[in-house]
Amino acid sequence: MEKWICRADGYEESISAASAREAAEEYIASGSYPEESETYWISVYVHPTDADPEDGDFYKVAIDPDEPSCDMGDHDWQSPHEVVGGLEENPGVFAYGGGAKKITVCANCGMYRIWDGWATDPEDGEQGLESVSYRDADEKSESWVNATK
Ligand SMILES: [Zn+2]
Repeated sequence: MEKWICRADGYEESISAASAREAAEEYIASGSYPEESETYWISVYVHPTDADPEDGDFYKVAIDPDEPSCDMGDHDWQSPHEVVGGLEENPGVFAYGGGAKKITVCANCGMYRIWDGWATDPEDGEQGLESVSYRDADEKSESWVNATK
């Protein structure tokens, strides 16, 4: 284990971890970063405690939203073409940029889960990140849930 100084948002902390990336992740996990409805990113500056502070690097850590609870106990994510759209042989998958978005819907409560494999960090414009967000059930998904019961 090495000792690292982690810095973000004007705070810093010394953390023991096997690597700078792990130290950054631990720093974020121990902080009180609120969950938003969509993934967002914090850049943590990390350098070894016994090295020049200039010799550090930025590590980006994703903060994912907690999965909202399901009315029926557990979500059952599926990709019914009539609800999620897209190509019939690959429903709910939408290629864009250098990646794709994938939409699934819960067969129990009708909630949508949107996984984005080409997300952009609005802070610095970095592309190709992964993000996840959830959307409430709508008429379309609810009538599909009712029809499959
Ligand atoms: Zn559900």
